[in-house]
Amino acid sequence: MKLFKNVKPVIAIDGTSVSGKGTLAKNIAKQLNYDHLDTGSLYRYVAYLMLIDNVDLKNTISLRKKFNFDHIKKLDLRSESITKLSSVIAKKKEIRVFLIDIQRNFANNPPSGLGSVIDGRDIGTVVVPLAEIKLFVDANIVVRAKRRHIDLKTKGENLDYNLILKQISERDKRDKNRAISPLIKHKEALPIDTSKLTKEDSVKLALDLIKKTGKLKLINY
Ligand code: C5P
Repeated sequence: MKLFKNVKPVIAIDGTSVSGKGTLAKNIAKQLNYDHLDTGSLYRYVAYLMLIDNVDLKNTISLRKKFNFDHIKKLDLRSESITKLSSVIAKKKEIRVFLIDIQRNFANNPPSGLGSVIDGRDIGTVVVPLAEIKLFVDANIVVRAKRRHIDLKTKGENLDYNLILKQISERDKRDKNRAISPLIKHKEALPIDTSKLTKEDSVKLALDLIKKTGKLKLINY
């Protein structure tokens, strides 16, 4: 099978839930003037369409018709029901096949024309396997649960810490053990453990690691 070859530079960031990969991806993209694609939001959007619009996931024609990429950024897709459902529907082959084209299209046509930073669970392993840079982000599960707990509290949502810990652990299990595109570290992926790092430290570490590979020209760094 021929591997998909990206025509623009891609930094593929995979990692566990609440590991900080999304914020890291956003900040790297900002630093390099690349475009950021949060692929989790695509799975969340599909879950949203299912919950709000009753889209039948077996009917990918109806999903294709309803799916509006430009609509995603305008929605709040972070509710607990969408979070849980997105990780459940992410196991389905028809959903992954449908979303892979959207992700690869973004990789080859980033709005900036320069390159992209794409984060998710299977970006370096499946979606863009020839990405110039692959990173794998993780953090201790207790640290992740505490971060999520604080985030929710700031938003005025008081969810029990132990419940959050349980939910993250369940999502980890679903992501790592599913038959299609499970979350695994690609052998070339550079590991980043954010457990003891601030957001700024994580960006610096990632950019230093990227620079060291010599695979991308880093303007302004
Ligand atoms: O990253 P985020 O938590 O927003 O992703 C929502 C869900 O979508 C995850 O729990 C995961 O199961 C799924 N996902 C995936 N593959 C990706 C991105 C997200 O399976 N590339």
